[in-house]
Amino acid sequence: MPAVIHALTIDVEDYYSIYRRDLFGVEGPPTDAVVRNTNRVLERLARHGVKATFFMLGEVAATFPDLTRKIVAEGHEIGVHGYLHRQVFKLSRDEFRREVGDAKKRIEDAAGVRVEGHRAPAFSIRPDTAWGLEVLAGLGLVYDSSIFPIAGRRYGWPGFAPNIQVMKLPCGVNFIEAPLSTVTILGKALPVCGGGYFRHFPYMITRWAMRHIGKVRPAIVYMHPHELDTTPGPEDFVAALKKAPPPVRRFHRLQMRHRKSFEKKLERLLTDFQFAPLRNVISTVLHRKA
Ligand SMILES: [Zn+2]
Repeated sequence: MPAVIHALTIDVEDYYSIYRRDLFGVEGPPTDAVVRNTNRVLERLARHGVKATFFMLGEVAATFPDLTRKIVAEGHEIGVHGYLHRQVFKLSRDEFRREVGDAKKRIEDAAGVRVEGHRAPAFSIRPDTAWGLEVLAGLGLVYDSSIFPIAGRRYGWPGFAPNIQVMKLPCGVNFIEAPLSTVTILGKALPVCGGGYFRHFPYMITRWAMRHIGKVRPAIVYMHPHELDTTPGPEDFVAALKKAPPPVRRFHRLQMRHRKSFEKKLERLLTDFQFAPLRNVISTVLHRKA
């Protein structure tokens, strides 16, 4: 039996501009940390000959069009991750349409290719924001990969089928959803294939989960370039943090934890498993079914 080919997805965003906005209410463009960190991920992937999907923020594409072009030139898929990283449940239907439409256009203008896939900031497509899928279809997108079939605190769609699927939307349009992977441990579905789970837990947990999922379907792994950044950040960010209330400082400390071992874990992941861009994985799965 041929080895299963999993999907590697990378959400390209600048940690500092997002959290300046979310934690301190300060607007500002993405910093060049996003370029530095994404380049490190690109180098690692190139060394392993791995192609992935990069879901990019519109503000990053607008500020750093060269980075957008480089990702595509190196053979990766580029998708859209919203413009300013605003969660879908904080937006009206029109605002969401503008947020994704503007970002898609910025990315397509910079990269010179058509964007087909979408990942919502913080996986914010849930039962109460299912209307977002109709907006995405209306913008000419082909698929979404934002749904976590779990009962999470801020995200998740409990009971959502875990496989890549064609959904019939209430408006009658067919649209593809590629839900993020989970495994059930002690009766609870956990999102162990990426993000904080990949960073905070021993690598062997992700490896076990991926082998387990790989018996029935490809896993969809997600990560962020900033997860390998161990530098303290721009001066204004550090200064604002010092004056911030304890819960904000705790949040940031958790975000910074286990970043040193991230690249080593990524290296092992790229050695142990085969990956392809998500659109290729989707097409293999749906083609096989047809
Ligand atoms: Zn994000």
